Amino acid sequence: MTSESLQASRGTHDIWGTEIRLWQFLEQHARRILGQANYQEIRTPIFEATELFNRGIGEGTDIVSKEMYTFTDRGERSLTLRPEGTAGVVRSLIEHKRLQQGVQRCWYQGAMFRYERPQAGRQRQFHQLGVEVFGSDDPRSDVEVIALGLEFLEALGLSHLTLELNSVGDPEDRQRYKAALVDYLTPYASDLDPDSQVRLTKNPLRILDSKNPATQKILAEAPQLPEYLGQDSQRHFERVQSGLTALGLAYELNPRLVRGLDYYTRTAFEITTRELGAQSAVGGGGRYDQLVQELGGSATPAVGWAMGLERLVGLLQKRGETPAPDLDFYIATQGEGTANLSLQITQMLRRHGLRVEMDVSQSALGKQIKRADKLGCQACVIVGESEVATGDITVKWLATGVQELVAFPSGFSDSAVWRQKLRPNP
Ligand code: ATP
Ligand code: MG
Repeated sequence: MTSESLQASRGTHDIWGTEIRLWQFLEQHARRILGQANYQEIRTPIFEATELFNRGIGEGTDIVSKEMYTFTDRGERSLTLRPEGTAGVVRSLIEHKRLQQGVQRCWYQGAMFRYERPQAGRQRQFHQLGVEVFGSDDPRSDVEVIALGLEFLEALGLSHLTLELNSVGDPEDRQRYKAALVDYLTPYASDLDPDSQVRLTKNPLRILDSKNPATQKILAEAPQLPEYLGQDSQRHFERVQSGLTALGLAYELNPRLVRGLDYYTRTAFEITTRELGAQSAVGGGGRYDQLVQELGGSATPAVGWAMGLERLVGLLQKRGETPAPDLDFYIATQGEGTANLSLQITQMLRRHGLRVEMDVSQSALGKQIKRADKLGCQACVIVGESEVATGDITVKWLATGVQELVAFPSGFSDSAVWRQKLRPNP
């Protein structure tokens, strides 16, 4: 009797093989770019108290109202798998009193969970890379985080990127705008799509985000958020734009851009690409000067972004990015008497810092050499009974087919010799 085989849950996927190398490459790239700007990595727990997200993200948002993975643990606590990274980072900085220690720059990377309808570029477990700067309302910190995001993407070789920019104002500005928007939309209420009708009372700004054509048409004549900005937000917005221009970064103003989370103030932005089809947003972020206070900390301005890593990996795959070969040597063996010698050669080469796989398949020599080729090894070390007897080991260079005899152990002990013979590691 065979038992039924198990599959990964809907909206999740396994990452391995050539794909994992793209992930590792992305992670290294992030470490380098963000390290240069002195951002510190932070790793917060995957689950948090549900209340953190209810308060932090906002009850009226899509995430909190229908996308969270919430469960009760055995101690009757309501916990939620994090749907985004910022709330947890803020909770941590408040808890460890780090916000009293001047400006804090940090970044995170990891799995996020949202109950969404899975499709290309949209999963239930996905990964985000994010940055946050706490403790500064200087428009230059907005510019710095935006520039870092663009730098990160451009250094990956991604093009066709568009930076969309808006200001959602201070809470008072938004209050005035909200009232004007509701005044304008109410007479059309019955023509709005059902989601937008609900939002009209719950969260009217989110209607701006609707993709429904009828709603879009009504919105065309609606009052626009930037016209409602107070003097301070207006000035902040101008200085952000001026900073971006000074760095030669192009942007498109999008007065309808509001972000999915409730906590944004002033700057809001999104980075999109034409290369991704329907799920065109690579990432987005903005300023969130209210969130720290909302979560029980002292008033602390902040700005940040998050990017979807699946979408970046997808872009790299589409471009046919081929990760570099993984291995320098393959140790092929033939005959029982070669066991210890193959172990010793493997250890010696690894201690030189070389990348070595030892065959343990016990298959025919020809098959072992084929595997070495397939793995992208530069050379195959062949250890047979005659090699054990003479101490002269055959090394076959796979690109040329040239073979040489190397004495064991003397010929293997000098790492400089091997480094010279090998193509440089990528
Ligand atoms: P969208 O409008 O595409 O749902 P969002 O506004 O919900 O995006 P954010 O919360 O701003 O997204 O997350 C930042 C980035 O994370 C997005 O731009 C996207 O690249 C990625 N992302 C968001 N949700 C998912 C998901 N379910 N699967 C894969 N990537 C995602
Ligand atoms: Mg979403």
